[in-house]
Amino acid sequence: MTTGQQLRLYNSLGRRMEDFVPLPDSPGGVTGMYSCGPTVYSFPHLGNMRAYVFADTLRRALRWKSIPVRHVINITDVGHAVADSDTGEDKLELAAARERRSVEDIAAFYTQAFFDDIAALNILPADEYPRATAYVGQMIEFAARLEERGHTYRLPSGLYFDTSKSPRYGQLALIDVAGQREAARVEHVEGRRHKTDFALWRAEEAGRRRVMRWDSPWGWGAPGWHLECSVMSIALLGPHFGIHTGGIDHRELHHVNEIAQSEACLGDGKPWVRYWLHNEFLQLGDQKMAKSAGGAPRLADLTAAGYHPMAFRLFLLGGHYRSQVDFTNAAMDAAQATLRRLAARIEPLRPLPAADTLDAALLSAGAAAGEGGTAAALLAELDAAITADLATPKVLAILQDTLRDPALPPDGQRAVVAAADALLGLGLGTLGARAVDGRRAASDLPAGELAAIERLVAARAQARKERDWARADEIRDELGKLGVQVTDTPDGPVWELR
Ligand SMILES: [Zn+2]
Repeated sequence: MTTGQQLRLYNSLGRRMEDFVPLPDSPGGVTGMYSCGPTVYSFPHLGNMRAYVFADTLRRALRWKSIPVRHVINITDVGHAVADSDTGEDKLELAAARERRSVEDIAAFYTQAFFDDIAALNILPADEYPRATAYVGQMIEFAARLEERGHTYRLPSGLYFDTSKSPRYGQLALIDVAGQREAARVEHVEGRRHKTDFALWRAEEAGRRRVMRWDSPWGWGAPGWHLECSVMSIALLGPHFGIHTGGIDHRELHHVNEIAQSEACLGDGKPWVRYWLHNEFLQLGDQKMAKSAGGAPRLADLTAAGYHPMAFRLFLLGGHYRSQVDFTNAAMDAAQATLRRLAARIEPLRPLPAADTLDAALLSAGAAAGEGGTAAALLAELDAAITADLATPKVLAILQDTLRDPALPPDGQRAVVAAADALLGLGLGTLGARAVDGRRAASDLPAGELAAIERLVAARAQARKERDWARADEIRDELGKLGVQVTDTPDGPVWELR
């Protein structure tokens, strides 16, 4: 959709809403977008997946506004030390020792687990999934350039970035640098000049040979975690690009360090990346489901409990990406019921226009079919919602209103449903109500049986209108025997099969 509202996004850099304008010099007019990817040492949990559903929502919004994107999600298969620290053991190597497998096996296994989850959640595939181990040569070159420019110092534990040489250090985190230097970074690194300084290269400790090791000007060792994202994003998207996303926990340290080293390395005085977007945490009880939360549930736990993966996606989209969302069984039950209701209402409207080929022409055709402009008005509402910093709860509400609107002819409904689904990515064009939880949908019934149920539901409504409660209850029992559950809503009775 090329017309409509200006896309506005909340930029963490400056903490303000801004018009999204592609960089004027982006290669081929394509916006580069980089999302910090998984460290593949264990199964991704539900909190991790929120970051990718969020990035996917952003991509869908950009597609809606006809802004071409090249999306990169990295795979961290080396260099991420436990507790995100500069020293200590590598997460991959620890996992390999724990599971008695090679680091390559661990990386391959958990990378596949990540791909399985993003596919199940209907996340658009990225254009590239670079693996850190394939870029170590470029990381060494990058760090060497920083050393040449005088931004580093050597310690026995490796090569460190000197943050005092970066005048804008910490801008993204909105903390004054002096303040952060006093902040509680408890890890003690012998010889580190400032608490904010971080390792670009982690040298092997004497007598402790690492499993994954590379030779470098600073001895055998492995790259620092922050370095990886700068190098892979610049290698694949060019020195400056439009969008960088990640979980809110990255805003305070990882992304701060990415910016500092990238700007120091590029040395052109320009801000490295234009827009920084961060999703909030998923809360489990009173705990944040953060990166390393042990024992946090994963998607497979939900599906084993009978939830459809799209119910989890719907649950996430029911909250704004910048709000903390509480993960509870009740919320998942509600999301599953909503998904089922949506699928059941949309089934009779199929086939929908293909979501990924939606464009302005198709939408205006749909709007024209709305006769009287109702569909056009709903499409404009969708546009206003998604362009207002990705207001997915509002998009969901518009979708639900559309399906309840008796004045809207089926073609108008189809256009709005397809557009909403292109933004939400719930796969409603093909998702059957029965596929949500195994229960039968009305559309599975033979026509005669369906007509009989509808007659009974109408008769019950009539009995209630006449205040013949005994008769109404009798019909409810009769429907119950047919496996039909009726619920009275302000819009009249709705029924579903149990
Ligand atoms: Zn990163």
